[in-house]
Amino acid sequence: MKRTKTSCKLLCGLMTAAMIMLTSCSARTDTPKAAADGAASEKHESQVFAMDTVMMLTAYGENGSAALDRAEEIIYALEEDLDPTNPEGSIYAINTGAGSYVPVSENCIEVMLTAMDKWGETGGAVDPGLFPIIKAWGFTLGEYRVPGQTEINGLLADKNTEGILVDEKSGSVYIPQRMEISLGAVGKGYTAQKALEAMAAAGVESAIVSLGGNVQTLGDTKPNGAKWQVAVTDPNDTGAYVGILSIGEAAVVTSGGYQRYFEQDGMTYIHIIDPETGYPVDNDLLSITVVTADGAEADALSTSLFVMGAEGALEHYRAVGGFELVLITEENKIIVTPGLADCFEERGGGYVYEYPAE
Ligand code: AMP
Ligand code: MG
Repeated sequence: MKRTKTSCKLLCGLMTAAMIMLTSCSARTDTPKAAADGAASEKHESQVFAMDTVMMLTAYGENGSAALDRAEEIIYALEEDLDPTNPEGSIYAINTGAGSYVPVSENCIEVMLTAMDKWGETGGAVDPGLFPIIKAWGFTLGEYRVPGQTEINGLLADKNTEGILVDEKSGSVYIPQRMEISLGAVGKGYTAQKALEAMAAAGVESAIVSLGGNVQTLGDTKPNGAKWQVAVTDPNDTGAYVGILSIGEAAVVTSGGYQRYFEQDGMTYIHIIDPETGYPVDNDLLSITVVTADGAEADALSTSLFVMGAEGALEHYRAVGGFELVLITEENKIIVTPGLADCFEERGGGYVYEYPAE
């Protein structure tokens, strides 16, 4: 585990406690700001607190307000459905019905298919079967602790992700007994995808959502023809940015240890778990940002590529493709893959920027 220079244990505890006390809510501030070029530029904004994070939604055009309503509905519906602690939700039903096929929502089937697909593609680096281990480290409730090796070994022995079956035809999911699943690594990206699909169906052509570390856009440009600008957070100074990406229609998803962690006895334990060891990941990456078309895939990839470390992530990039990356390493290197080189604007911060040819 990493040695830490300063202690922010108390601060992290307070922040987490405050977040748990908050329930889902939304603040609509969408007084349309009509621009000189008319209704197409009307900007509607809404701020939602759901899935333990602040979500910012922006939709342009005269259908913007109705589109935000649809997006909020889908966000709250998915929050309930995918929350493993909600007895009304699909994931709770799957976990309490371990050992038999459990009927679930269409959304749950869809997100499970993405999660299992990426589990296979990444050699198990993103693993929906980690929930008991994530709970053991206290990341679900913010009651952090370091589990003993025997406890971790027992939980790893019960993890049997190979045995999970998603039956699209009957709309049901089977997990082996003694297993529990969660979709924390994929759910927000899937929700961003669905929120934008709902906005498009409501007649919006330009929109952007930011769900914690998950940003996604609808439309190649803003109504004024400018590209969307998405900042990449500086993991060493989370109020600052290491660069700005100017993108078209895409999902931009970041995973990083700085997003959630705790400290104990001078060690830092981050919220992303290595499925092989059951321990928080401790490699050369501070964060990884994935840019690709689909929000759920981007989210699943960001978590799994973080687990792989810089070299593993770049190897996967070269072997599989279909996405682009910004990697930030412990040696203060920022590696930008070729498809982003022309749309990444450096912001300094003591980093060395690298643009590998492939
Ligand atoms: P993300 O922020 O998308 O990288 O997802 C991290 C969240 O997913 C964590 O807070 C855990 O709830 C869960 N998680 C952690 N490690 C993994 C993993 N290797 N595979 C699947 N889910 C994970
Ligand atoms: Mg993820």
